[in-house]
Amino acid sequence: MLSNVRFGPAGNPLGYRGETVNVCNYIHRRGLDAYEYQATYGVRISKQSALKLKKNSKVNDVRISMHAPYYINLSSNKEDVIERSIQRLIQSAKAAEWMDAYRIVFHPGFYTKYTPKDAMVKLHGAVNILNEKLSSIGVSNYTFAPETTGKKSQLGSLEEIIEICRTHENFTPTIDFAHLHARSGGGIKNKEDYRIIFEKLENELGLKSIHSHFTSIEFTDKGERRHHALFEDDYGPPLEPLLEEIAEVGWNVTVICETPRLDEDALVMQKIYNNIIKN
Ligand SMILES: [Zn+2]
Repeated sequence: MLSNVRFGPAGNPLGYRGETVNVCNYIHRRGLDAYEYQATYGVRISKQSALKLKKNSKVNDVRISMHAPYYINLSSNKEDVIERSIQRLIQSAKAAEWMDAYRIVFHPGFYTKYTPKDAMVKLHGAVNILNEKLSSIGVSNYTFAPETTGKKSQLGSLEEIIEICRTHENFTPTIDFAHLHARSGGGIKNKEDYRIIFEKLENELGLKSIHSHFTSIEFTDKGERRHHALFEDDYGPPLEPLLEEIAEVGWNVTVICETPRLDEDALVMQKIYNNIIKN
């Protein structure tokens, strides 16, 4: 069976001026087949609109994921911050169920004053509360997808994301390759570096499919600084080796384009990938 590899933008395409509930018409027309709905500044979509978006995605065969609000910190040393973070994830899970988003992407938290180990203990406690609350209100159709993060002050190394997903049901990783690159000071150089990531995910979580983000990225010694368009200057990580690796491992992969050129660059990625599998 051919693997299912999808490409799409993080948020509404640059040239799209219509309503978000109809955005999948435009995405499909452009030849793309994934879309990450951005709730990054708060979950504001109504149930009615979310249901419309779901319908629109189904008729266009566009796979929808949702990016939860940025302001989430499940490992905070302040209880009220954890509480508000849990509330935001509950709102996200409800909206994700309405629109049938197959993943709820979020940045898990910051180490703040904790050691990485202690921050992880805090986070596990918060996730347990989150899951209990969701089950108590009858929300069950959700998959949280904590993302590998780009700043060294953020919880979210590949190993930490694997640990979270191994521990909690309904959790599976979002692999942001640019963030892994930025965190490691430019550690992704070739196909072998990508292969190591895929192997780790398969060995430790038994995965054969992932949700992922890609952009060219500028970084400092603290990690991520800014997203850039594909092939702008020399910013990494390298794109072609990733697409070659995806083609070789044969996984189902959704690649959400997070460059400033969104759908334009998603199409570039898709074109390169299609050339690779043709050969
Ligand atoms: Zn990302």
